[in-house]
Amino acid sequence: MKNGVVIVGAGHAGVQAAASLREEGYDGPVVLVSDENELPYHKPPLSKTFIKDGDAKPQPLRGEAFYSGSSIDFRPGVRIASIDASARRLDIAGGGSLGFARLILATGSRPRLLKFEGTELSGVVSLRSLADARLIRELSAQSEDVVILGGGFIGLEIAATLRAAGRKITVVEAVDRLLGRAVAPVIAAHVRQRLEAMGVRILTGTTISRLEREGGRVSAAITSTGERLPAQMVIIGIGVVPNVELAEAAGVAIANGIRVDQHMQSSIPEIIAVGDAASYRHWFTGGDVRLESVQNATDQARLAARTIVGHAEPFSAVPWFWSDIGDMKLQMVGLTQGGDSHVVLGDLAENRFSIYHYAGSRLLGIESVNRPGDHMLGRKMLGAGFSPRPETVAAGPEGLKAALAAFQDTVPVKATA
Ligand code: FAD
Repeated sequence: MKNGVVIVGAGHAGVQAAASLREEGYDGPVVLVSDENELPYHKPPLSKTFIKDGDAKPQPLRGEAFYSGSSIDFRPGVRIASIDASARRLDIAGGGSLGFARLILATGSRPRLLKFEGTELSGVVSLRSLADARLIRELSAQSEDVVILGGGFIGLEIAATLRAAGRKITVVEAVDRLLGRAVAPVIAAHVRQRLEAMGVRILTGTTISRLEREGGRVSAAITSTGERLPAQMVIIGIGVVPNVELAEAAGVAIANGIRVDQHMQSSIPEIIAVGDAASYRHWFTGGDVRLESVQNATDQARLAARTIVGHAEPFSAVPWFWSDIGDMKLQMVGLTQGGDSHVVLGDLAENRFSIYHYAGSRLLGIESVNRPGDHMLGRKMLGAGFSPRPETVAAGPEGLKAALAAFQDTVPVKATA
């Protein structure tokens, strides 16, 4: 059999890449390998629902029949150990190899680990995979007190979910605010206030110095201020690191991720990288980024398939992201770093508001809490390359829709939203 496309990693990016290859008419062999022993599944529900409900089932990305029906050779439980780029061959851990004409690395990322006394104890976990989520669910059933290290999206989603399941939760965050790198201070403060109202205890400007044990299992976390927090489970959620080692050892250029161009090609053009593992210069800001979102993974995967079948358009998807923390649906569109002013629509007290971020007169992005209409309109506006004036935003969504329609009458659509 002639060599075709091999995709390493069957997360959101890998599965989309396989599907898109077929949708784009690619009729050569497609092999999709995963080191997990699962039917590929949606990750977002793991922290939002799965861990609190003992009966919840994983949500497959595609039904089992999809793979055979699309002639995708899906191989679970297979870990790729190394790439020989010049021979176009992959070595499988434990023996065997796979030849490729084009290789898509969709290897994702893994939780960042922190070493301090006690992190090896049973009951100390991170959440990335379905196996991790099953373990957290099991440990949660035996835990009254849970300490979460890290006040980012995953840590706070877990905090809200396990609090709703009746656990006593303390979040320990090293810097002086939540969601540090990701959202405006007003959103971070709002999220904190609502989580505290749910009974989640939040310690900012604090870290964990060590863990205490009872038998082989964690029993308490000792904070940097010396406080003893009882904990039968400690969840470490301090971010992720991209899985670049395979690519790096094969001589592919790395820069905070597998460096790719606007067509998702790495420094070795036969090797493409997509999703959490890939870093690139973003068309929207001109800055270098590595985005960790389902949208980024799936849009890059679609483009990778188009690159392989010979289309030459550059990446132009509008970045967006969501997170559900308790009764807050947070949605972000655009990239808001570098903003110098903003307009607020809605009402914080009602738990429904949006922040429109500007750099000068350019709309950079919108962060919304429980205002999905603003988010959807934002995706349309940024996709069209339309930057409404702050006064138009302040006048409300109806005026904005009309301004967008007027703009679209004069200018062709620029990007996919
Ligand atoms: P992954 O989904 O991580 O898939 C990579 C796969 O490659 C993994 O299965 C890995 O085991 C496998 N792999 C790695 N190396 C090898 C190898 N050598 N051989 C074989 N297989 C290998 N994003 C949002 O936009 N909204 C959300 O609400 C949201 N919630 C999330 C909640 C949780 C709990 C988590 C963990 C993530 C969440 N994300 C969310 C982020 C989103 O899931 C990721 O951005 C997305 O999964 C990235 O897709 P990926 O395919 O690049 O990587």
